[in-house]
Amino acid sequence: MLYKPVIGLEIHAELKTKTKIFCDSLNDPDEKHPNMNICPICLSHPGTLPVINEEAVKKVIMAGLALNCKIEKNTFFERKNYFYPDLPKGYQISQYLKPLCYEGYLDIKSNPPSREASEGSKRIRITRIHLEEDAGRLYHLPDKDYSLVDYNRAGVPLMELVTEPDFETGQEVRDFTSELQMIWQYLNISEANMEKGEMRVEVNISLTGADGKWGTKVEIKNLNSIKFAADAVDYEIKRQTELLKAGEKVVQETRGWDESGKATFSQRSKEEAHDYRYFPEPDLPPLEITDKQIE
Ligand code: ADP
Ligand code: MG
Repeated sequence: MLYKPVIGLEIHAELKTKTKIFCDSLNDPDEKHPNMNICPICLSHPGTLPVINEEAVKKVIMAGLALNCKIEKNTFFERKNYFYPDLPKGYQISQYLKPLCYEGYLDIKSNPPSREASEGSKRIRITRIHLEEDAGRLYHLPDKDYSLVDYNRAGVPLMELVTEPDFETGQEVRDFTSELQMIWQYLNISEANMEKGEMRVEVNISLTGADGKWGTKVEIKNLNSIKFAADAVDYEIKRQTELLKAGEKVVQETRGWDESGKATFSQRSKEEAHDYRYFPEPDLPPLEITDKQIE
């Protein structure tokens, strides 16, 4: 029996800007001391208001243009509500209905060629790229009954790129991700250092059977290198194939990558779908992009 892998990526990258997305606190990924680059706005004290950082908007547009995307000229921000101590406001300002960039693509080398890209290459379709804010970092201490939180990263501009499920192998994931990383670094959009968490790759993977029906999707997170992402894909294709061949079912869940054991492992089963209660951000005006900015 033949199973065809169906793989899509979700990739976050911190933007290289002088200041954060909604305030003038510094965006310094190298700050070692916790809670230095913070202010009442990124700590969301009552009464503070966000102001959009034009540089962050420009960098997402630049990423979109480099990746053959359409640019949304009339867009806006939304609140994604969830409650966690790394998120001082209790919601993340993000984009949901109208991402800044949409319907792009990146051609990677491929053998044999497929899709409409030129010979010897394969077209990976990019669904969207949107702009949002990063959260802080939590430190869970092994022998303590409390955790620590560092808000230096809270409010750092972050873009999220989502692809269509166009990948079939770990090698394709590797080719795409390294090309993307080079483009972002070359254009000075992001340092995109995966070890530092400036670029984070999440893999969605399922297998399609001979009947053509899409199988259950597994998500792999916390992959902090391109090699780990590709290795995790190849491992997961084998694991899911063996399960299906044995007549068992693939469970919908989030898995991590164990580099020492060279295997994915279950992190949590998919809880009931999150209800983020998205609604338009009332503290920011709609975002209007001019032709001049795009130019
Ligand atoms: P979710 O709502 O579960 O986050 P999305 O539709 O937002 O799902 O897709 C998230 C990612 O998963 C995208 O990169 C998409 O290409 C990929 N994806 C969607 N369906 C599948 C599938 N059946 N198998 C593998 N990847 C998929
Ligand atoms: Mg999603």
